[in-house]
Amino acid sequence: MDNLTDVSALGSVGMTGRWFDVARATGLVRTDGSVAGSIFAEMTDLAASTGALNLGQGFPDVDGPAAMLDAAKAAIDAGFNQYPPSAGTESLRRAVADHQARHYGLTLDPESEVLVTTGASEALAATMLALVGPGDEVVTLEPYFDTHAATIALAGGTHRTVPMLAHPDGFRPDLDALAAVVGPRTRLILLNSPHNPTGAVLTRAELEAFADAARRHDALVVTDEVYEHLVFDGVAHVPMASLPGMADRTITISSAGKTFSVTGWKIGWLHGPSHLVTAIRTVKQYLTYASGAPFQPAVASVLGDDAVPRALAASLQGRRDVLCEGLDRAGFEVYRPQGTYFVVADAAPLGVTDGVQFCRDLAREGGVVGIPVAAFCRTGDDGRPSAVADALASTVRFTFVKQEHVLTEAVDRLTRYAAALR
Ligand code: GLN
Repeated sequence: MDNLTDVSALGSVGMTGRWFDVARATGLVRTDGSVAGSIFAEMTDLAASTGALNLGQGFPDVDGPAAMLDAAKAAIDAGFNQYPPSAGTESLRRAVADHQARHYGLTLDPESEVLVTTGASEALAATMLALVGPGDEVVTLEPYFDTHAATIALAGGTHRTVPMLAHPDGFRPDLDALAAVVGPRTRLILLNSPHNPTGAVLTRAELEAFADAARRHDALVVTDEVYEHLVFDGVAHVPMASLPGMADRTITISSAGKTFSVTGWKIGWLHGPSHLVTAIRTVKQYLTYASGAPFQPAVASVLGDDAVPRALAASLQGRRDVLCEGLDRAGFEVYRPQGTYFVVADAAPLGVTDGVQFCRDLAREGGVVGIPVAAFCRTGDDGRPSAVADALASTVRFTFVKQEHVLTEAVDRLTRYAAALR
């Protein structure tokens, strides 16, 4: 609602150029032609202006491990303040290769098969720009993380989606839709598991179904695995690249932000077969060239310490339970997540039909910010929401990566607000 820009005031910039494709693909062009900021910025601003508790944008409210923070400070003092190598500091590329070998049995050459990026976001953008062009179709799940839609549009690709269907025990991809969506024009399939916003963790069988479709149409696969360690209840994260034969056609993306609670450091990476990594590196060097000189060795120093993400996942599982049980008691229908920072809850039992309006009212009158799941869904060129958006119109994504006392307070507020609605 802030960041209003009147398109007619943009003069010669106008409604052409990739910026407009990006704005449209992410649903930021309003019916009056003005352009909104991203839903995360909008909701974080709304939390700031209303004083509401921000369970919208997913970022932790406590710092990551002290030893890693100290390592970054020491790196600054030791002079790691100029451009690191464009492909990434050697110690971090090696740490990424070791991590993938230790956790998933993947063998990577840190020289030619690993690329450090400015967060997973740049990894996604560089990958799409390098590998996708006009006429190419890119398949994602829906709802999807907004950056996925934005980067497809940035590359001029056409976005197709496979719906996530809500079941009483969580969301699952509609594999029956796969055959109709993946076809000869599919250049790549872009998946995120654990899945933001639904919290689903794709099973090996589900990944196999996407892998089969990719093989059948000779498509590439890109997987955004930034929540790889944040899985609950003993559920296993399976990287697509670990499936038989898939390493040759898969780009795997992850980052330090979620695993080590440093979302502002923007240290990400990707790996894949060297010919694809070369193509992506060629683009990446002209986006940021390089970034995060002191942060790269700091992340390298902690990436071998599996106790850090294990402790975070355990504590997050407890916080998930606090929020899920609270939402359930307040009268929402809760889709319990298997991973990520997020839970999707349906406000329909409270009489809500429009999740977007509900989120605005909840922030102002209930003191809690969530994100309407419709913001992660498609809008057609006719301005009509997609079938998935319709099905999820009354659902909201809340994050539980906040301290327990914040969640308890949020649950109290949600309970009072829901009671007043009913
Ligand atoms: N990944 C975080 C979320 O989904 C933040 C995204 C962002 O601010 N761009 O909330």
